[in-house]
Amino acid sequence: MPKDTRLFPHLPERIAGLEDLAENLWWSWQPAARMLFKRLNRPAWKDSGHNPDKMLRGLPARYLEQAAADQDYLRHYHLVMWRFQQETRPVSCRELGVMSDASRQSIAYFSAEYGLHHSLPFYAGGLGFLAGDHLKECSDLGVPLIGVGFMYPRGYLLQRINEHGWQEDVAQGLDREAATISRVFDSQGNQMIVSVPLIQPKLNVAVWSIEVGRTRLYLLDTDIEQNEHRDREICGRLYVGDPETRLRQEIILGLGGMEVLKALGRHQFVIHLNEGHPAFALLVKVQDLVAQGRSFEEAAKQVHAASIFTTHTPVPAGHDIFSRELMERYFSSYWPSLGLDRDGFLELGEHRQSPYPGFNMTILALRLCGHCNGVSQEHGRVSRQMWQSLWPEKSVEEVPITHVTNGVHLPTWISPKMRLLFDKYLGPDWVNNPDMSIVWEFVDEIPDEELWQTHYWQKIKLIDAMRAKVRRRRSRDRAGPNLVLAGGTMLDPSILTIGFGRRFATYKRAGLILSDLKRLKKLAADPWTPLQIIFSGKAHPADEPGKKILQQVFTACLDPELGGRIAFLENYDEQFAQYMLHGVDVWLNNPVPPMEASGTSGMKAALNGVPHLSILDGWWLEGYNRVNGWAFGRESAEGNRDVLDAADLYDVLEQEIIPLYYDVSENGVPCGWVRVMKEAIKSNAPRFSSRRMVKQYLEKFYAPAMAMNTRG
Ligand SMILES: *Cc1c(COP(=O)(O)O)cnc(C)c1O
Repeated sequence: MPKDTRLFPHLPERIAGLEDLAENLWWSWQPAARMLFKRLNRPAWKDSGHNPDKMLRGLPARYLEQAAADQDYLRHYHLVMWRFQQETRPVSCRELGVMSDASRQSIAYFSAEYGLHHSLPFYAGGLGFLAGDHLKECSDLGVPLIGVGFMYPRGYLLQRINEHGWQEDVAQGLDREAATISRVFDSQGNQMIVSVPLIQPKLNVAVWSIEVGRTRLYLLDTDIEQNEHRDREICGRLYVGDPETRLRQEIILGLGGMEVLKALGRHQFVIHLNEGHPAFALLVKVQDLVAQGRSFEEAAKQVHAASIFTTHTPVPAGHDIFSRELMERYFSSYWPSLGLDRDGFLELGEHRQSPYPGFNMTILALRLCGHCNGVSQEHGRVSRQMWQSLWPEKSVEEVPITHVTNGVHLPTWISPKMRLLFDKYLGPDWVNNPDMSIVWEFVDEIPDEELWQTHYWQKIKLIDAMRAKVRRRRSRDRAGPNLVLAGGTMLDPSILTIGFGRRFATYKRAGLILSDLKRLKKLAADPWTPLQIIFSGKAHPADEPGKKILQQVFTACLDPELGGRIAFLENYDEQFAQYMLHGVDVWLNNPVPPMEASGTSGMKAALNGVPHLSILDGWWLEGYNRVNGWAFGRESAEGNRDVLDAADLYDVLEQEIIPLYYDVSENGVPCGWVRVMKEAIKSNAPRFSSRRMVKQYLEKFYAPAMAMNTRG
């Protein structure tokens, strides 16, 4: 895209590259690049919410001139810019180790949400962060992938807890100009506008992009003047309840997304669907082939060979289903172009034996994608069972759904302090080859004291950040005493600290550890070996039961008998997730199996030396090896699962975790505990890295799909 005007005209020539750096999210996973911005002016960096674009816009020229005249700064600048160029230059398919005839192809990755950084509020939770980490890892590896997603101009729901512990949702607009987002221009130099098929009156989307290292993410924005008022709001926020709006969103993402790729001149690509929401994109490929004279069957076969679908939802009711009537209303003019009649079209998303009638986006994706996977070994198994009836001639084991276990982008989720420690003891290979177990064996070389001190520093930082947050809420918003009390003012860094940070969906059972308050009080208030818990997370705005659980947690925070040992951190987002994942001692996870398809936050915690304490579900079934964390929970025909799981959790705390944590050597280091920390890092970091994950997608799916695609 032509860059006609400089965004930051007051930037001195000698450090003019800061503009390119600020406009590519690569900085967000490079501590040295972040430091370059931070060094310009620390308060301004903090005020901007760690957003270089916003910071550079507002920073007085004298700070920039100062930096441009500082030899030290310039040295740092040149080194970062050199690395930036190295790590954003294109990588050929040969270097990647994929066959060369795939060279001009790419992977079009469709996802309804992306979690990239807290300044870009295009996410609700785990699915989004998985997509964000996927893009970053593809950049690091040089996988030719382009992302397609939504701009949610009103996507940012701030969580505010009132004095009674009830969640209130405050919508906050996105400032498009002050984020790492750029307009995409057409050949005339205007912002690219694309019209979306099937929606009447005509609906247009404006196209924006985000550079994520080598990868580019295109965002569709419906909030533009040409659209009717109602349509401008369509993509205001994620996952609305009303089915018609949701269908329109999914038409925009799937069909509109494909129009955008065409307008960009992209024609040779395979499709990877991150969850079923964007599955209509597949229809466009079928349509193109039918227009070239193929039958529907031939076209579908070809699309099937070159498309990838990742499912994330382990319960039948969690999938998007639209009524026949709604589908007919939108698609009746469309099915002839696929070479199908009404019934043929509707059958693509339907299944007679399904207890949930209607057009199911997951079924559509499963029928049209030849490469399907769940997101952990267990979730693969559950998915094969769940969808077996789509393949009546096959046994459950033969159902063509495999698994690629999720992973996390290490440079994004490792704390900068821990990263320095790894640099020192693991050597440079851990950044370049994070999926190699052998590199991580060197974690044993880190002196116990150094690892413990680094971790302790992270814990103090978390508690400081929580106090600063409630102080701000008190002085700026006049927040009442309950919020201040609950917000962590009485936390103590020397105490064993459990973290629970995730969405307050009911199946995640945030309140499980509070279910026997008498027992918990005994543990929390023990004078010699006390325990504290930090909770954080948002309930979906329409989820009343989730909000009730949150209120139960808040009430516990105020209970004098718990002595300020329970705290709630308001407005969980990427930034505070980082503080928590780095700073608590144990990461707690207790969903109802098999609801947690994978889960990723425990992986992020583990690689920072925060061991996982979890029900055996999702990734932990693969990760747990008896020495790298703890497992609890039991299924039983008799008795209530919640009661049994909670009792087991208290047992593990009492018998194993608390004694180990408080068994401290003369120099103040809990050596047995540090051993578990080291095992957690060593065993989990390589296996649950997105490096391992993306390599598997590349080898299992992308390479064969690209090979089939060229033969078309
Ligand atoms: C990683 C992450 C999640 C996903 O966590 P789960 O383990 O899947 O519950 C959600 N929110 C944020 C901010 C995250 O960083």
